[in-house]
Amino acid sequence: MNISIAIDGPCGAGKSTVALAVAERLGGHYLDTGAMYRAVGLYMLSLGIEPSDAEKVPEALKDCLVDVTYDEENRQHTLLNGRDVSGEIRTPEVSMAASAVGTVKAVRVTLVARQRELAGRMFLVCDGRDIGTCVIPDALLKIYLTASPEERARRRLAQLNDPSATFEKVLEDVNKRDYNDMHRAESPLTQAEDAVVVDTTHMDFDQVVETVTKLYEQRRKR
Ligand code: C5P
Repeated sequence: MNISIAIDGPCGAGKSTVALAVAERLGGHYLDTGAMYRAVGLYMLSLGIEPSDAEKVPEALKDCLVDVTYDEENRQHTLLNGRDVSGEIRTPEVSMAASAVGTVKAVRVTLVARQRELAGRMFLVCDGRDIGTCVIPDALLKIYLTASPEERARRRLAQLNDPSATFEKVLEDVNKRDYNDMHRAESPLTQAEDAVVVDTTHMDFDQVVETVTKLYEQRRKR
C-alpha cells in the first residue's frame, strides 16, 4: 500500500488547487502530472511537430527530458531539458497540445515511469487522469474529482487572464478535452473502481479540501 493520494478527474474540476492545499495540510508534496504532459506538448509545438503524431512524437521524445523540482515553499517547478517552463505551459494552446501528446503511448510510458519513481520515495498528493488507475493503483486514497462542464468552463474562464476568451469557447475546449481524455486508447480517463467521487459543482473550495483531508485521515486510522 502506498500512502499517497491519487486525485483524478476531468479538466477544470479544481484538482490542482485542491491537491496543493491537501498536500500542504498533510505535509506531502503535490505532484501535478498534467504539467509534465504540458511540457512535452510545449516541446513538440516548439519543434513544429503535430502533438498527436504517433511517429514523430516518440522520436522527438528521446531529446525531451521532463523533470520536476520543489522550491523552499514546496511548490512544483516543471523543467523541460533543464529549463523552468512552469509559466509557459499555462496557455490554451499548450493545454490542447498536452491533451494530444497524452494519446501517444511512448509519452505515457515515459512520464508514468517518472511519476511512479517519485511516488515510491515521497508522500505525494498527485493529480491527473490515470493516477488511481495506472500510476499509483495502490494509493491509500483515490478521489475522482468532478463538476459539471459548464461550472468547469466558468472556473477556467475566471482563471484565464485573457479578455478575448469567451465562455462558449472555453466550454468548447473543456468538452473537446473531456472527449479526448475519455476516449483515447491509452489510459483513458476513467474512475477507478475504489475511488471516492467528489462532485464539486455546488461546493466551495474549503469544503472540498476538508472533505478530501477527512477521508484521508479516516483511511490512515484504519
Ligand atoms: O491537468 P491538466 O489540464 O494540466 O492536463 C493537461 C492534459 O494532460 C490533460 O488534458 C490530459 O490530456 C493530459 N494528462 C494526462 N494524464 C495525466 C495528466 C494529464 O493524459 N496524468
